[in-house]
Amino acid sequence: MDEPRIKGWCPGAWRPMATGDGLLVRVRPRLGRLTRQQMLALCEAAETFGSGLVELTSRANLQLRGVSEASWPGLMDYLVEHGLVDPDPDSERRPQLLLAPDWQADDATFEAARLLEARLDELPALPAKWGLAIDAGVAPLLGEVSADLRIERSAPGSLIVRADGRELGTPVDSPAAAVELLVRLANWFVDSGGYDAGRMRRHTAPLPAWAPAVMAPAEAGPRLPLGAYLEGEGAWGRVVGLPFGRAPAAALRAAVDSAAVSAVRVTPWRRLLVEGEAPTAVPGLLDDDRDPRLCVDVCPGAPHCEQASVETLALAERLSGRIEGSVHVSGCAKGCARQTLADLCLSGRDGRFDLIVSGRADGTPDATGLSETDVIEYIEKNSDAPRL
Ligand code: SF4
Repeated sequence: MDEPRIKGWCPGAWRPMATGDGLLVRVRPRLGRLTRQQMLALCEAAETFGSGLVELTSRANLQLRGVSEASWPGLMDYLVEHGLVDPDPDSERRPQLLLAPDWQADDATFEAARLLEARLDELPALPAKWGLAIDAGVAPLLGEVSADLRIERSAPGSLIVRADGRELGTPVDSPAAAVELLVRLANWFVDSGGYDAGRMRRHTAPLPAWAPAVMAPAEAGPRLPLGAYLEGEGAWGRVVGLPFGRAPAAALRAAVDSAAVSAVRVTPWRRLLVEGEAPTAVPGLLDDDRDPRLCVDVCPGAPHCEQASVETLALAERLSGRIEGSVHVSGCAKGCARQTLADLCLSGRDGRFDLIVSGRADGTPDATGLSETDVIEYIEKNSDAPRL
């Protein structure tokens, strides 16, 4: 098999990506939220036009797989009709806005998001993978999520704007000032030659004098725990988990199957926050933070991705909860599901697995040419591999 191809762009809905099981169509929920009716429509679309599975990505997007070239136009009509996709294809060229999912309608995260939405036309043409995080709650939640500029809260409590790759941010006195600075910094990135670097963290030019980086963000807060979500005086919603980041449409439909549910918010952590009085213990979804399927990183593998030479999901199920430490199962060396080191990484090549201890999918293997059973045997026999 050829070396994995680095595509350098992200699929969208107007620009779907061809994969091993058809087109992958990615939906960016506006402000990270779908109304209940939109969630039901997305489930319907997954079953009518796709494979019936819905995936939640590490940048909090939702995606459908298995869409044929012939059915894609009908799917797009349906998604536009339900407000799931902007009718303007150029909207997908704008950087993604990622909101801390615990925002409230009267807080700084929501205010900054609304202000920024109105000024997106002032952003320059930016590299395809650029993202913006609005994370202005008491403690930042999105520090581990890919984003090039962030609006956060500092330890003393003021708002800051921070360029990715820099430990300190620039203090500002209001959400409007934060948005103003963010727009200026995005333009500075392009004007100072950042486009060639691609991402802010790789752009080594010193920040401009008008954006002094002097203040550290507050200590990171925890991910939203699974189960009842409390806000203020009482229960406000329910957080549900998606095994390996994907779930059948039927399970998601069941999660909002109550008139007391108003909307669903996406998160980058394989969790959805269902607003309102949501059903409990939905089959196919997770409600226990200790479930190992929340932790194993696995890409769709064969037959879902054309670059995969191995199936990944069965091995991920086999290893779940049986390994101490982090596990990454990848269909090829590209390693889409995890870019950082994992204690144990299995990477597909020519129909077998490379096994890498403490490495990435493109790392130097400790063993090669393994079947699923070989992987288990290797781990049992080798004391330097994470133990079963
Ligand atoms: S890592 Fe997985 S999803 Fe990414 S290209 Fe390889 S097989 Fe496909």
